[in-house]
Amino acid sequence: MSEQTIALVTGANKGIGYEIAAGLGALGVTVGVGARDDTRREEAVAKLRAAGVDAFGVALDVTDDASVAAAAALIEERYGRLDVLVNNAGITGGREQEPTTADLDIIRTVVETNVIGVVRVTNALLPLLRRAPSPRIVNMSSSVGSLTRQSTPGGELGPIAAAYSPSKTFLNAVTVQYARELAGTNILINLACPGYCATDLNGYRGHRTAEQGAATAIRLATLPDGGPTGAFFEDDGSVPW
Ligand code: NAP
Repeated sequence: MSEQTIALVTGANKGIGYEIAAGLGALGVTVGVGARDDTRREEAVAKLRAAGVDAFGVALDVTDDASVAAAAALIEERYGRLDVLVNNAGITGGREQEPTTADLDIIRTVVETNVIGVVRVTNALLPLLRRAPSPRIVNMSSSVGSLTRQSTPGGELGPIAAAYSPSKTFLNAVTVQYARELAGTNILINLACPGYCATDLNGYRGHRTAEQGAATAIRLATLPDGGPTGAFFEDDGSVPW
């Protein structure tokens, strides 16, 4: 990697995204804190900077074309390229998601953020990633997106969900298609599962810390050249599709 490594983490104002930003920052990476709320973003940037991280704020709503275009323009103007993109922002859509009674708007909203948002951000940033010597893209998935695990009783299946779990399955599938298209380039694109972490997303029910949940994404964001692409990892190794 070149002397200065520039990263953008979406949804970095709190939870796992914040810890990914902190962890990358501790490795000396300059980190763009992508967040849609001005106050939450500025507070996160201030906290990271107080901890010694070279952090900068990036106004970013992953569901909004203009916001994403402006974020890409800001990074282009400041740095001219992007080395690492971590698509971390995500929502569950709430807990009432049994398929037989599902609110279609919830499904749309979750897919818009967790899948289409990732495509929107990735494609807007790809021109800047292509200028980096060793570009890395990490998409935050979940083991609940694994169809193998969802159809194997006894594991950590999470609640029955017509929106959230399938949105992560969709994200996994889209990521594999990116890896196919980008094969032969220097861009590595992979999926990370953070494990069940205590964050706002699940009312702090998770048994892992957000910092623990950030570890796999940080590893994938800093993979050496020739590393895996189009793969799905958690701390212990590969997650089955
Ligand atoms: P979290 O604490 O709720 O944080 C989610 C982040 O995403 C927040 O910064 C939130 O911003 C941001 N976000 C949501 N919609 C956005 C949008 N339209 N534009 C920009 N940012 C947006 O959740 P988390 O637990 O850290 O989750 C991070 C990622 O890990 C998600 O993709 C999640 O699905 C995945 N994951 C989490 C767990 C877990 O156990 N926690 C397990 C598996 C996977 P606001 O503050 O503005 O809402």
